[in-house]
Parts: sequence; structure tokens; C-alpha cells
Amino acid sequence: MAKQEDQFKKVLSHAKEYGYVFQSSEIYDGLSAVYDYAQNGVELKKNIREYWWKAMVQMHENIVGIDAAILMHPTTWKASGHVDAFNDPLIDNKDSKKRYRADVLIEDYCAKIEAKIDKEVAKAAKRFGDAFNKEEFVATNGRVIGYQEKINSILSRMASSLEKEDLADVKALIEELEIADPLTGSKNWTEVKQFNLMFGTQIGASAESSTQVYLRPETAQGIFVNFLNVQKTGRMKVPFGIAQTGKAFRNEIVARQFIFRMREFEQMEMQFFVKPGTQKEWYENWKETRMKWHLSLGMGTENYRFHDHEKLAHYADAASDIEFKFPFGFKELEGIHSRTDFDLKAHEAHSGKKLQYFDHEENKSYVPYVVETSIGLDRMFLAVFSHSLQEEELENGTTRTVLKLPAVLAPFKAAILPLVKKDGLPEVARDILNDLKWDFNVFYDEKDAVGKRYRRQDAAGTPFCITVDHDTLNDKCVTIRHRDTMEQKRVAIADLKELINAEVAVKNWLQKM
Ligand code: ATP
Repeated sequence: MAKQEDQFKKVLSHAKEYGYVFQSSEIYDGLSAVYDYAQNGVELKKNIREYWWKAMVQMHENIVGIDAAILMHPTTWKASGHVDAFNDPLIDNKDSKKRYRADVLIEDYCAKIEAKIDKEVAKAAKRFGDAFNKEEFVATNGRVIGYQEKINSILSRMASSLEKEDLADVKALIEELEIADPLTGSKNWTEVKQFNLMFGTQIGASAESSTQVYLRPETAQGIFVNFLNVQKTGRMKVPFGIAQTGKAFRNEIVARQFIFRMREFEQMEMQFFVKPGTQKEWYENWKETRMKWHLSLGMGTENYRFHDHEKLAHYADAASDIEFKFPFGFKELEGIHSRTDFDLKAHEAHSGKKLQYFDHEENKSYVPYVVETSIGLDRMFLAVFSHSLQEEELENGTTRTVLKLPAVLAPFKAAILPLVKKDGLPEVARDILNDLKWDFNVFYDEKDAVGKRYRRQDAAGTPFCITVDHDTLNDKCVTIRHRDTMEQKRVAIADLKELINAEVAVKNWLQKM
């Protein structure tokens, strides 16, 4: 646990030190759970967004994008259920006066039991060596089975109480499990209450004429209300998808863990409209496709898993999360939901407008079913960033900090470094920079010894360093150094573009899907 916390602290300080993420309004001591992306962070974020958009929109003939407004007609949120049901169960600790999400307290309790299972597995793996079979061990070891049964019984009781809105039982469960305030250890809890997560604001100049509106808590509704506009003007045939990236706002209660849970965040969503009855197939299909997208970045199969939901939201007939192993354990990164025809039907009912599709093959109209994929851009950023940050022991006994970002996502693809600040080397380096910048985001650095500059670029995540030395003036060659292997090669300036492109081109990464 302490190791995990250390690793997470390193992620936070590295994100600040290397210009990735700053606390919002830091000079005023910040605003809780709100963050700003800095000069490198904005590039990484943009590259992740683009990697998603290309995979989703550019690579699919039947998926198009939109960019809907953050403010929407207030009835939207009545239809979607957010006004009445977008609630979190909250509990306050009477001693510490801290507020928590009751379900998160219970889930964290289960995560601790899960950690015990992991410990048993690790111990057994050590004992049995190569002969160890994890699946068999987990299925037969009495202690592990006991732990697993305990987790299952807690989670299913919580799911059923939340389903029935039996908040008294959620509190009873917290008391029976003797869950304490994680900060103070106090078990002096209030009742569990529901709290609406939407941020409200006003449109209009005067108090009398103003209308209460909300900052959207999800981007999906902008897609649903535009479903027919897009279908007609784009002459889209079911099945087809509408994709969107944009800000969403939630007045989160448990706003911790850095950019994992923010009050202002960005979603990348795609709603896929299908013929009723085919949703199961499409749900499975999108689960698989989305997992492949994640794996294409090469961050290790073992760091991802599906978590199928037991408690389904009011609109869903199936739902699963793709979880990623963050520095604080496996947590939701993306949701894949089979949303039925709930949203379109609700908007029909509230607007009085038909939102139906005429299927020429079937010769009839229907309200399509929807399968959505919804990923948080900031969470994806944290997944990539925290996974990439590594400390390496080098052969000479020193260590280096290296940010092994997938090259396709790295903010800068190469740094151009004149060996010394004289003898015409900076001029040649600038010529290379001015040529490469048409194709890649590149960086120029002439300060300090070259070894120091390499380390700086390693820590900032730049995949290549290109060094111009005195020989360059005669042989038109440079030294190219690879961030991950630290291997150095002499190559012709004329070949640089192709070399870099081979490692950073979106095509070469997405083709791994
Ligand atoms: P959680 O259970 O973690 O609160 P959720 O199930 O409410 O998430 P969804 O409504 O399914 O999340 O939103 C889709 C995606 O948006 C999530 O998988 C996550 O990546 C992202 N997301 C949701 N809330 C936040 C937040 N407060 N900050 C950052 N990203 C978020």
C-alpha cells in the first residue's frame, strides 16, 4: 500500500514538474478537484483525443462526429432522468465532518479484502514456483474462496439496497462491516442521503426572466437530441454511430485521486444506434473493439480487465467497465452500456417529437436501441501517464526517470540538440527543426551538457533526441537516440522524417488493433 502511495505521489509531482498538470488557480490555493493542463499536458491530451477520434470516426464509414453545446434545454435533464435520479448516496462522519459516498466506502472495504486475495496468490506463487496454477489455486483454496464469498455477498447486498433505495440498509451495512472514516478512524456516521450531482446556473439577465439550466453532466444527451438531425442530413442507415468529445461537469463528493475524479472533466463518447433485438450482439462487439483500442497502445494486457455490472442503471440492459490498474488499484476507465431505447423514447415523450428511424428493408419505423462507449479523457490521461512513469536502474549503478509514453501520444516527438552552442551547430540544428516541424511537434534545446539534456527529454517523454555535432557539418548525419533503449545511431539528416514517422504514425499503432 505504502509503495502504491509513493508511486502515486511521484506521478503527481512529476506531472507538475514537467509541465503536464497544474492545480487550478494554484496561486489562490487551488480549487478542489479542478485541474489545468499545462504546456506538455495539453499536447498529450490532444493526442489521446485524436487517437480516439481517428479510431472511432475516421476508421468507421458509419460513425460521424458532432460537437454539441454544454448548455442544453433544461427539459433534456428531466427526460434523461438526471433531475430526479442523478444522485449519489452520501454519508457524513459526525466527528471529522467529512462527507463520503457510501457506495465508495463499501467498495473500498471490498478492495481491501481483494488485496488479501492477491497476497495469498503471491505467497502461493512463490511457494509452488513454476508449477503454480493461479486459476486452480483461486478456485480451490479455502481462504481465498472465503474472501471471495464475502466480497460477493457484500456487493450484492449493496446493489440490491441501492436498487430498492433502501438507504437505511446501506448504513446498516457500513456499521456491520465496522467501516471507519479513512482519515480519522471514527465510526460515528450520519444517515445515508441522496445528493444531486448536477451544477446549476442561470440563463438571462434579470432574476425574474432567468431560466435555471445545468452544465451537462454527460455528453451523451447532446447526441440523443440530435439523433434525427444527423441521421437525416447525413443520410445515415442503422446501424450507425455518433461520436463526440467534450466537457462534462459533476459536483462530485469524493473528489480525490487527482484527475481520476474531477468536477470538470472531458468525455469521449460514441452512441451507436442499432435495430432493436440486435443490441446484445453490438454490445459484445463494442466491448471487444474498445478493449483492442486500449491494448493497441501496448500498456500490457495484465493491466486491463472487464467488470460486468450487477446493479444496472435505470436505462441499461447490460453494462460493463473496462478497468485499468491505476497506481491505487484497478478502477473504471471506460464504460460500455447497452442503453436500450430509454433515452430516445424519453426525449420523444418530453418533446412531443418523433425520434424514429424508417427502416427501408423492414418497411417500418422504430426507435433504435443504443449501445454506448464512454471514456473519460482525463482518466485515460492518468492511465497513460502513471503507467509510463518509470524509474530505471542503469548499468553504471545510477537511476534515470523516464516517461515511456506510447510514442504516438508523446507531446514532442523529437528534441533537436546542438552539441555545443557555437561553431555553426545551432544553425544546423535550427534548420533541422524548421524542416521537421511541418510534420511533427519538435523541441529545441541547447542549454546544459548533452547528457543532462537527454535526461530532461527522457523525463518529459520525448521518444527521440537528435544531436548535431561537428561531424554533421561535413557528413550531413546526426546521432539519433531512442528514449526507451537509449540506443544511439548515426543517420543521415535526410532519413530523419521517415525514421520518426515509423514510430509515431497513428496508422502504425491503430493497425495493431
Ligand atoms: P464513477 O463510477 O467512477 O463515478 P461513472 O460510472 O459515473 O464513473 P460514467 O457516467 O459511466 O462514469 O462516465 C463515463 C466515463 O467518464 C467514466 O468511465 C470515466 O472515465 C469518466 N468520468 C466519470 N466521472 C468522472 C469524473 N468525475 N472525473 C473524471 N472522469 C470521469
